[in-house]
Amino acid sequence: MAGYDYDLFVIGGGSGGVRAARVAATLGKRVGIAEEYRFGGTCVIRGCVPKKLYVYASQFPEHFADAAGYGWTVPEASFNWQTLVANKDREISRLEAIYKKNVEGAGGETFHSRAMIVDPHVVHLLDDDRTVTADQILIATGGRPAAHPALPGHEHCIFSNEAFDLKELPKAIMIEGGGYIAVEFANIFHGLGVDTTLVYRGKEILSRFDMDLRRTLHETMEKKGIKILCHAVSERVHKRPDGRLDALLTSGQTLTVDQVMLAIGRIPNTENMGLEGIGLEMTQAGAIKVDEYSRTNIGNIWAIGDVTNRVQLTPVAIHEAMCFVETAFKGNPTAPDHDTIATAVFSQPEIGTVGLSEDEAVKRFADVEIYRASFRPMRHTLSGRDEKMLIKLVVDGASRKVLGAHILGPDAGEMAQLLGIPLKAGLSKDDFDRTMAVHPTAAEELVTMYKPTYRVKDGQRVQ
Ligand SMILES: Cc1cc2nc3c(=O)[nH]c(=O)nc-3n(C[C@H](O)[C@H](O)[C@H](O)COP(=O)(O)OP(=O)(O)OC[C@H]3O[C@@H](n4cnc5c(N)ncnc54)[C@H](O)[C@@H]3O)c2cc1C
Repeated sequence: MAGYDYDLFVIGGGSGGVRAARVAATLGKRVGIAEEYRFGGTCVIRGCVPKKLYVYASQFPEHFADAAGYGWTVPEASFNWQTLVANKDREISRLEAIYKKNVEGAGGETFHSRAMIVDPHVVHLLDDDRTVTADQILIATGGRPAAHPALPGHEHCIFSNEAFDLKELPKAIMIEGGGYIAVEFANIFHGLGVDTTLVYRGKEILSRFDMDLRRTLHETMEKKGIKILCHAVSERVHKRPDGRLDALLTSGQTLTVDQVMLAIGRIPNTENMGLEGIGLEMTQAGAIKVDEYSRTNIGNIWAIGDVTNRVQLTPVAIHEAMCFVETAFKGNPTAPDHDTIATAVFSQPEIGTVGLSEDEAVKRFADVEIYRASFRPMRHTLSGRDEKMLIKLVVDGASRKVLGAHILGPDAGEMAQLLGIPLKAGLSKDDFDRTMAVHPTAAEELVTMYKPTYRVKDGQRVQ
């Protein structure tokens, strides 16, 4: 549209926004993109990437301990938190530059500015005090950790954003929350030698995952030394004269720690962006309402990624971006497919999962077969580590379709990626059975569990 400055203006330079901007620019569209903080967004700057680097860092003490069974003598190891933080910073700066360069290399224009929408075709760039016009606008502003203003002493607490950049590694930390971010950080801090307590209001950590995995991970984490307090929330956080924090819990306990980290959910970034002013529809939780093609109630404004609160994962934001470009610029309306998404929790041990949990399958199918193997992975035979691996397939007894695959153990995330393909393709247990095993691996259990461990018929476990 020649009358506008841009064919597309993207607000938010994270996983979804950068992908949409780059691909649209590659098509020859005139694209602008504004990012108020750092290009790369949550995933690169304060999410998936630094998190995984910290997971690696936190695994070394177990590797050192396990080495003894394999004949190694490892001298006493020491850890420097500041080195880890600095090296992480170097890596995310490298990635940030690549993200920005990729958009610019495709012909897009980048702005370091907060942006707001003043009219359906007009964006105001606050830092530059400049207004631009665009035919299409894409909102990809992501989300941020939910605050807890009702908690007395909340001002002493940190969130995942701050946890990555603490000046000192705490001696003791309390993490509140039971989702994957809380669980992953509990494992990270524990692995780095921090006395760690996870406090969760629900009955078991990681709701919506398969209960078998949740329970087994819980037990394994406790065995490692992480304290997990379910059915509890903090009532008050008090700063002591010595600078430490007392967290008073509903259970009556008081935990004295150096940091309290809240990981109690994430909220969409939609405030102070002019969205109410232009009549953009949002949910009660402040997420942007979109149709199946990611279009808002205003025809030329679209939204993708965490800000729409559909599935909050990087590959999902990227997929939604690709579908948006197909729909808006290639005349090929494409709705993102949110079904059967493989995912991982980088806990220790790791979770890799795709498809229905046992509980979900039982609600939807009359005859469910469960194939379950719990065993000590080979790497823990000589190491002597008392840690079990769990592999589980959930199968529809009538059609033999594999409905869910759930793994707890080393490399479970890598396995989940590969399992995402047969489950997405709707393959059956018979297809798994006629697949040759790769030996010796842990994953071979996936194709060698020939007989169901038990069935659930009409909600009743029958064998
Ligand atoms: C600790 C943590 C760990 C995670 N681990 C994983 C993982 O292992 N795997 C996985 O798939 N996902 C993970 N996620 C989730 C993943 O990071 C998000 O799903 C993903 O980043 C969403 O992408 P997005 O483009 O929607 O938003 P974001 O990546 O959040 O990007 C939004 C961008 O918009 C900018 N912005 C906001 N408002 C404005 C404005 N008005 N003007 C200009 N710019 C603005 C923000 O600064 C931000 O950079 C993790 C998240 C967290 C917090």
